[in-house]
Amino acid sequence: MITNAAIKAFSQIETPFYYYDMDLLRSTLHECAKQAGRYGYKIHYAIKANDDPRIVEEVRKVGFGLDCVSGGEVKMALEAGFAPADIVFAGVGKTNWEIKLALENSIGCFNVESIPELEVIDAIAGNLGTTAQVCIRVNPDIDAHTHRYITTGLEENKFGISAWAFDELVAALKASKNVHLKGLHLHIGSQITIMDPFALECKRALGIVARFREAGFEITDLNLGGGLGVDYEEPAANPMAPFEDWFGTVAANLPVAEGQTVHFEPGRALVAQCGYLISRVVFVKKGKDRKFVILDAGMNDLIRPALYGARHHVENLTSRGGKLRYDVVGPICESSDTWGEGLLLPATSRDDIFAIATAGAYGQVMSMRYNQRPFAKAYYSDEILKK
Ligand SMILES: *Cc1c(COP(=O)(O)O)cnc(C)c1O
Repeated sequence: MITNAAIKAFSQIETPFYYYDMDLLRSTLHECAKQAGRYGYKIHYAIKANDDPRIVEEVRKVGFGLDCVSGGEVKMALEAGFAPADIVFAGVGKTNWEIKLALENSIGCFNVESIPELEVIDAIAGNLGTTAQVCIRVNPDIDAHTHRYITTGLEENKFGISAWAFDELVAALKASKNVHLKGLHLHIGSQITIMDPFALECKRALGIVARFREAGFEITDLNLGGGLGVDYEEPAANPMAPFEDWFGTVAANLPVAEGQTVHFEPGRALVAQCGYLISRVVFVKKGKDRKFVILDAGMNDLIRPALYGARHHVENLTSRGGKLRYDVVGPICESSDTWGEGLLLPATSRDDIFAIATAGAYGQVMSMRYNQRPFAKAYYSDEILKK
């Protein structure tokens, strides 16, 4: 939430910048912890969604582990004080130094995405005289086309090991003497707003556990990944992701056996709504049939609209004028640098302050220096509202 006190403070700050509502972050983390706690589920925050140290520190304080997808993230997790056992490491292209770093620090689990990767982890663990803890990332081949999510769980994409490779996988596992199979990993996609795919994911997970059991492997850890979506259209009305539905759906569809632990890796759902990109109007420009609001925030600061055609809620924080239609764009020399077309906004003029909402996930972490623009800084409600 952006309070009047925050808006007042914004007038003194150079734009564009990221603003984090730390109270909303903490209440979101606590809600997730509470709902997961009802079933004994374990949470690993997907740090790639936002690796801002202040945010990561709040995640650590609530007791979550981390899901990393690179050696750099594993390093960051260790430096931030997370217990190695609470770190899991996924990614289709783990390089030798990344594997070595993770093994030397005894992280909790590698989420292994291919048979060649399993063989390399086994070899490196052998050289180091250690045993690698692994989960196998299985591609559940859940058809997302019909539901149009951003999918990672389809047979033809690069993530995970497919069902047809199961026998080869079992042979590779049996030959890998420096690897201990802990469990399964699935991650079916991102920004998923209905629960059916998660129910289907549970069904697939149970089937795979049974297949492993037949092959002589007992699965103790079931990691169902992340993917829970948030409301980009009405963030103020729905600031909280539906954690209760998510864990409830899994609880109803995935009976947990004695000694098994279920894990989740939410990224977006934990941090998206607490972040805003704050920007000033540089110019209001008349086109032939439309009016353009040109902001000083662009795709280099928040690339989701240009990269995925994503839309964020855009708000004029400082005008109370009558509503008019505007195309709101950024300053970058790319036509995809657009925040929204034909948006109904209060009459807007130069120097008005805008908020681009739901910018806390895959925002600041993906920013870049295109056009020699500086990185947007981050400001936090804890500090801004104290003054
Ligand atoms: C990106 C990612 C996540 C987090 O996805 P969200 O949609 O942000 O929840 C979780 N697990 C893995 C393996 C990922 O790559």
